[in-house]
Formats: sequence, C-alpha cells, structure tokens
Amino acid sequence: MASRHAEIAGAGLGGLASSIALAQRGWSVRVHERSDTLRMFGAGIWLWENGLRSLAALGVEAEATKRARRIETLVARDDRGRPLMHRTFGEKDRMMLPPRADLYDALIARAAELDVEIVTSSAAVAARPDGELELEDGKVLTADLVVAADGVFSRIRESLLLTRRVDYLDEGYTRLLIPRRDGDPATEITEYWSGSRRLLYDPCTDELNYVCLCCNVDDVAGRQVPVDKASWLASFPELGGIIERIDEVGRWDRAMRVTCRDWSRGRAVLVGDAAHGQPPNLGQGANLTFQNALSLADYLDRGTDVPTSLVAWEKGERPLTDHVQKWTDLYGRVASAWPERFADRRSQFLETATKLPWIDRQLNRAARHVPVGSGRPATV
Ligand SMILES: Cc1cc2nc3c(=O)[nH]c(=O)nc-3n(C[C@H](O)[C@H](O)[C@H](O)COP(=O)(O)OP(=O)(O)OC[C@H]3O[C@@H](n4cnc5c(N)ncnc54)[C@H](O)[C@@H]3O)c2cc1C
Repeated sequence: MASRHAEIAGAGLGGLASSIALAQRGWSVRVHERSDTLRMFGAGIWLWENGLRSLAALGVEAEATKRARRIETLVARDDRGRPLMHRTFGEKDRMMLPPRADLYDALIARAAELDVEIVTSSAAVAARPDGELELEDGKVLTADLVVAADGVFSRIRESLLLTRRVDYLDEGYTRLLIPRRDGDPATEITEYWSGSRRLLYDPCTDELNYVCLCCNVDDVAGRQVPVDKASWLASFPELGGIIERIDEVGRWDRAMRVTCRDWSRGRAVLVGDAAHGQPPNLGQGANLTFQNALSLADYLDRGTDVPTSLVAWEKGERPLTDHVQKWTDLYGRVASAWPERFADRRSQFLETATKLPWIDRQLNRAARHVPVGSGRPATV
C-alpha cells in the first residue's frame, strides 16, 4: 500500500503517541501544536500495565521510565489510619511512576526518530470528515486521516459535532513534586483521606516524590495556590513532613468529563482527552490514551479503508474506556461528595467493598487489559 498521510492536532501525550504508532506503520505524519514550545505540565504520572505495554510497543517504555520508581503497593487510609484499600503489583501487573517530563521527552525523541514533523505555534481550528484540517492561519491541509488530540476542550471535536457533553465536576487537583528524604516510603503509594480531602503521596524518582492534593471545588482553602499549607496540615496533622516540603506554586485543575456522540466522522478521529477526558482518580486517562492510539494504528493497518476502520476501532475499544470513565467518576464522588458527618460509615463501606473480587475487577479492568497492537515489536 502507498504511504498514507496523517495530520494531527495537538502534541500532548495523545498526539505524540498517535504519531508514533502511525509512523511505525509507514504513515507520514505531521503534528500541529498551538503552543510555541513543547512542554509538559503535571509532576508525576501513574503508568499501569496497560500503559506500559502500549509504551513498549511504541518503543518508549525504557526511556520514559528510566528514573521511575517501581511501585509495589497502593494503599488508601482514612484519617484514623484505617486501610480503605490495598492493591499489590507484580511482574505482569506493574505500576511505574515517572516524572511526566521524562515520559514527554521520550515520546518527542521517538517521534523525531521516526521522522514525524512537529510544527509549533500551529493552531488547528476545524476538521472535516473528508480528511481536511483547517489551521488558524487559513491553510487547509488534506490527509488520509485527521487526528484530533487537542485535549478536553477540543475545538476540532466540536467542529465535527462529535461532542455529547462536557461536564465540570465537583473535584479538583493540585499536583506538585517535592524533594525526597531518606526514610520516605520508596515503593508504596498512599492515598490519605480526610473528610472530602485527599493527599496522594507517590514515590517518583531517587530525588523526587509526587504529591497530589484533591478537594471539592467549594473548598476555597483547599484549592488555593500556592498551597495553603496550614489548612492542609489541619486536615493531615500526621503528614507535616510531606506538607512542609511543598515549595512549588503548582496549579489547581478542575476535574472534567468528556462524553462523545461518536469518536470519528469519516476520516477524522478523536484521541485522548478529546475523546474521553475523565477525572484522574484511577490514573488511567493517559494509559487509555496510549492503548487507544496504539490500537487505532493497528485497526487502520488491518482495515480496508479509513472510515470503516475507525468505526470498527471505536466499537472494539470504547466499551473499556466507557467503563473506566464510569468507575473513576464514582470513585471521585465517594471521595469528595460523601457527607463529612458520615465519614466513618464511608470507611466501613470502603474497607469491605474494596476487598470484594468483583470491585477489584471493575477498578482494575483497564490495568489488566492487554492492548490491541501491543504484541508487535517496536520497530518501524
Ligand atoms: C490531576 C491529574 C492527574 C492525572 N494523573 C494521571 C495519571 O497518573 N495517569 C494517567 O494515565 N492519566 C492521568 N491524568 C490524565 C492525563 O493527564 C490525560 O489523560 C492526558 O494528558 C491527555 O493527553 P492528551 O494529549 O489527550 O491531552 P492534552 O494533554 O490536553 O494535550 C492536548 C495538546 O493539544 C494542544 N492543543 C489544544 N488545542 C489545540 C489546537 N486547536 N491546535 C493545536 N494544538 C492544540 C495543547 O496545547 C496540548 O499540547 C491526570 C490528569 C489530571 C488532571
């Protein structure tokens, strides 16, 4: 088959992963990024087995995780130290936690190796089902495939009338890196719960830990940046050693949820948060983005024509993504919308519920999924 061409809007994790998956299969690819530089915000990132397998197939796993901690356990505790959830990881069910910048740099380097063209200061404004991408400067580019990887507020998605709903949720997050100290837990992630607040402690590299502060949108002190340390200390008095190390200003992000009518129209397709933006409670947004970008290229490789392959891809991949969206949303509601006066009952409920094998399967269905296309070696 003659080389096919893709134009991609957005050089975030989704745009870069898509560009690599396509270029590995012989496509010529150009990525448009509206910012004037390529940069990544957001401290650390949880990479589950499904994401790691996808990154391996894209040829970036080793580089992306070269400084990352290998996590052995994930626990949640209430304000009395009671365990609400306990998850262990193993050889075929891994969790790694690199700084986001390492992951992003690895994707950029791999895209360059595959001759992907990345154009910065190039904002896309619309796509058309016949394979056109329109840029802000008025240029209209034609391609066999147009990928909208332009994030939660995707302009391209709406130009194709694919949006069903964009929900602003009742929780938000401040993400930070803090210096690591001797004696800090090295392989265990702990999510501390206190009322409607959560403090997530994550060992990240030999020098850094990743901390994520989660609270309800109405918690004015909780969402303050720079972080209101006294207020967080009042909620988590036992975590003074972590809170006092917060030095970065950080950024507070409100949780969002994107629901689409469809993921494609003709030759135009949505990838990443543009298709399935979700609250990050299960830490699967980017992992799903990687596996969906990989499987997209695989379906296109095996299919007869682009529009039919896109429809088949959505049919095959969307149910798992929808499932995660539902469960990550539910997790957030239990955490931040549960009435504080019934916090004790919440602890009892979670302690029991998270031990049920059925609940474990729902929460970890994506992590244990083997991504389509991940069996292929990471060569061009
Ligand atoms: C607090 C928090 C914690 C998270 N933690 C995790 C985690 O641990 N694990 C995990 O798997 N996921 C996590 N996620 C989710 C993950 O960050 C996202 O799913 C992922 O970054 C989505 O990547 P994306 O490329 O689709 O979108 P984005 O990262 O939003 O990238 C979109 C890109 O497109 C560009 N762009 C936008 N509009 C245009 C345009 N019109 N033209 C050209 N370019 C454009 C933007 O500048 C940007 O570079 C978390 C999210 C949050 C908020």
